Amino acid sequence: MADWKKTAFKAGLDALYFSGAHHMLAPFARGTGVIFTLHHVREASRRPFSPNRILEVTPDFLDAVIERVRTHDVDIVSIEEAYRRLTTPGEHNRFVVFTFDDGYRDNLEIAHPILKKHEVPFTVYVTSGYVGGGGELWWRALEEVIARQDHIGAVIEGRTRYFDTRTLAEKEAVFREIYWWLRSIDEDVLRAFVRDLAERYRVDMDDMARCALMTWDEIRRLAADPLVTIGAHTANHYALAKLDRDRALSEMRAGAAAIAAELGVMPEHFAYPYGDPASAGSRDFALAAEAGFKTAVTTRKGMLFPEHEEHLMALPRVSLNGDYQAIRYLDLFLSGTPFAVFNGFRRLDVA
Ligand SMILES: [Zn+2]
Repeated sequence: MADWKKTAFKAGLDALYFSGAHHMLAPFARGTGVIFTLHHVREASRRPFSPNRILEVTPDFLDAVIERVRTHDVDIVSIEEAYRRLTTPGEHNRFVVFTFDDGYRDNLEIAHPILKKHEVPFTVYVTSGYVGGGGELWWRALEEVIARQDHIGAVIEGRTRYFDTRTLAEKEAVFREIYWWLRSIDEDVLRAFVRDLAERYRVDMDDMARCALMTWDEIRRLAADPLVTIGAHTANHYALAKLDRDRALSEMRAGAAAIAAELGVMPEHFAYPYGDPASAGSRDFALAAEAGFKTAVTTRKGMLFPEHEEHLMALPRVSLNGDYQAIRYLDLFLSGTPFAVFNGFRRLDVA
């Protein structure tokens, strides 16, 4: 989300919360369930420049979130049980699903003990090609280069550009500019650009990936817990909508097949990399169905409604992220009202 949108969304959240309007709106907005998106769970970075902090929450926050969810009249269920409730007629209790994207080691080392203590089922969507080294966490590499340098040079749209990256404000502005440009361009050009940048400024992307992401042995340890579902997240974490049809489908299939080969179980649930409308659209929803998944989750914001039974390849989620680490936001998220307002009271966003 662009910064101004984030600020507006946050101001809207506070207005909803402090006005009490969410109590009035909740019966229309809260739906049958919600799927939460998380990435890292770890202590907050002390570095002021940490533009990827939206991808992490602290262990204490995760613990507090679970305790708070338990005070609401909802069940915490696996994605498989969510699928069952969405597709089985009848009255079901409202539910919450916890999901983690990418396959970070802190999911095993930090999040798992907390979730286990509370007996919370959860899903980890693994990017198969990132397991055990070779992962291209390009958004982290870009952050690292800008964090370490006072100036950087790069060829952007055929022009050599020089950026001052000395102050915090400069670093943030340059990160924003390059990050959003990269998100808009061809995936292969993106990866080549960041690999070149990392190499020139001596950021070891392989080492970064090896430190951050689980190995197959670690994923097997996690998967051995009956609370855990391993889902697929493609082979190489490309924005599928930017790829041609065959390549997008083979990314989905290869990711699932690699997990099946390593774990002996074919993953049935899928998360689109990035998951925003520019990264996963209606063509990709059809491809996920063709690949045989039971559910596929986006990062479009919203609650689940009975109507989602017809749109299992485009399930919305709600991000629990570093920018919203306050329990009052959780109460709002469970009420569904921010998304009702954000989506103009439309329950489906599947185009
Ligand atoms: Zn991801």
